[in-house]
Amino acid sequence: MPRYLFITGGVVSSLGKGLGAAALAALLQARGYKVRLRKLDPYLNVDPGTMSPTQHGEVFVTDDGAETDLDLGHYERFTGVHARRTDNITTGRIYSDVLARERRGDYLGATIQVIPHVTDAIKAFIQSNHDDEDFVICEIGGTVGDIESLPFLEAIRQLGNELGREQTCFLHVTLIPFIAAAGELKTKPTQHSVKELQSVGIQPDILLCRTEHPLPDEQRGKIALFCNIRPSAVILGMDVGNIYEVPLSYHDQGLDREVIRHFNLPDEKPDLSGWARISDGLANPDSEVTIAIVGKYTSLQDSYKSLGEALVHGGIANNAKVRIEWIDSELFEKEEAAIEALHHVSGILVPGGFGERGSEGKIRAIEFARVHRIPYLGICFGMQMAVLETARNLAGLPGAGSSEFGEPEIPLVGLMTEWTVGNETMQRSSDSDLGGTMRLGAYPCLLKDGTLARELYEAAEISERHRHRYEVNIAYRDSLEAAGMTFSGLSPDGMLPEIVERPDHPWFVGVQFHPELKSKPFDPHPLFTGFVAASMEKSRLV
Ligand code: GLN
Repeated sequence: MPRYLFITGGVVSSLGKGLGAAALAALLQARGYKVRLRKLDPYLNVDPGTMSPTQHGEVFVTDDGAETDLDLGHYERFTGVHARRTDNITTGRIYSDVLARERRGDYLGATIQVIPHVTDAIKAFIQSNHDDEDFVICEIGGTVGDIESLPFLEAIRQLGNELGREQTCFLHVTLIPFIAAAGELKTKPTQHSVKELQSVGIQPDILLCRTEHPLPDEQRGKIALFCNIRPSAVILGMDVGNIYEVPLSYHDQGLDREVIRHFNLPDEKPDLSGWARISDGLANPDSEVTIAIVGKYTSLQDSYKSLGEALVHGGIANNAKVRIEWIDSELFEKEEAAIEALHHVSGILVPGGFGERGSEGKIRAIEFARVHRIPYLGICFGMQMAVLETARNLAGLPGAGSSEFGEPEIPLVGLMTEWTVGNETMQRSSDSDLGGTMRLGAYPCLLKDGTLARELYEAAEISERHRHRYEVNIAYRDSLEAAGMTFSGLSPDGMLPEIVERPDHPWFVGVQFHPELKSKPFDPHPLFTGFVAASMEKSRLV
C-alpha cells in the first residue's frame, strides 16, 4: 500500500499548491521512489471541460481522454508520470456517481448522507487505481475554510485515522505576507489557517510557507510553537525566478527530508543533477527570441499554461530564452494597422480556441505569417484557421468557413459526426451534450515521408492528445494541396487530417492535436523544439 501525502492550502488561493505538489513528487522521485499525483477539486462541475478557460485556466487532457485540472499538467511535466482519468475528481463527479448508485438502489434503503456516503466515495477514489506507488500525493483544491471543501477534508481526516500516521502525512501550504508599511513578515494568517484546519480535526505535519522574503529563525519558531509542529517542519517556499527552480529551492529548504523523516525512511541524498541542468540552462540562455501567441483568452495566461511551458521547453532545447508576446486576435479585426506589429516577432502561434469571436483576426495573423515567411505553428483551432486562410486566399474558395460558426457556404471545417476509437465507432450530432463529448485523448497519426513533420518527429507513427469537435474536411484535400498545403499527418484510416504544412514556407505547421500537453522540460516536444529553432533562424535573418 502506498503512503499518502495530503496537501491542503490556506490563507489565500494561487499559492502554487499544485507546483509544490509536483516539485515534492519530483524530489521523492529523485530519491528513487515511485509517485502518483492526484487532484481533488471541490467545485460542482463534473469536470472542468465546460468551464471557460478565463475562469478556470487551461483544461488539461490526459492520454485516456479525461478533461482535467491544469495542475495535472504540472504533475506530468515535473514527474514524467502520465496522469490518468482516475487522477482528478470533483465534487460534481462524486455526487453524480453517488446519486447514480442511489437511483440503482445500491444503498439498500439507506438515507444517503455526506458522511459517510460522500466521504466514503472520496476515500475510495483516493485509494483506487494504484500501480505499486511508494507515494500517492493528493492535492485538495480550494482554501481551508471554504464550505465546499469540507467533505474532502473530512475524508482525508478519516483516512489519517484509519491508516495511521506512518502511512499518511498532512502538508499545509500557507502565505506569510510582507507588510511593507511595518517592514515585517506576518505569521498570524498562517496561525489562523492552521487553527481552521485543526478545527476540522487535521493537525498538519509539515507547513510550506510561501513568502517573498527569508523568514528569521525566531519567526519560524513562533509558527512551530503556535501551530503545534516541530521547527524543522516549517519549510519556506520562497519565490524563485522560474518554476523549474522550485524542486531545488524546496529541497534546500528541507521539504523532502522532512517528508522522509515523517515516514521514518532512510535519508539518502537525492540525485538532482537533472534539475540543476535545467535551472542553469534557463538562467543562462545563449540567445533570446520573441514569439507572438495570437489568441482569445490572453487576459489569463493560465488559459494557455501548457503552451507557455512547451515554448520554455523548446527554448531549453535551443539554449534560448523564449519571450512571449500575448496578443488578442480581435485587435487585428478592429485596427487595420495593428497587424504590422507582427513584423517584430520571429514566430507566430495560434493556439486552440472555441467560437467565432476573434477568428478573423487569427486568419489575418496567419496570412501575415505566410506572406512574410515568419515561422507559424497552428494548434487545433490554429490549424483549422490556417486551412481556412489557404482555402480562401489561395485555393479560390472564398466562401470557406467552419460549421462551428454557423452554416458556411463551404463547410471546410465541419462537425465530426463519426470517428473510431479502437474497434468502437463514436457518433455525435449537433444536439449532443457539450460536456465530455469532444474527440478527446490520445489518437495515433501516420506521418508522410519527406515532410517536415516526419523529419521533426523522426518516426512514421505518433500518438498525440486531442480535444476538438470540428475537423478539416478531407474532401477538400486536393484543392488545398493544389494551393501549396501538404497533408503530412492523417489518422490511420486516412479520414482525419492531423497535420498540415507548407513546403514553400520556411516553417509552417498546423496540427489538429495539442502537442503542448506532452512536452516536458526533460523531453521538449519536437514541434516546439523545431518551431523555436526556426524562429531563432528568422530572427538572425532580420
Ligand atoms: N473549436 C475547435 C473544435 O472544437 C478547436 C478546438 C481546440 O482548439 N481545442 O474543433
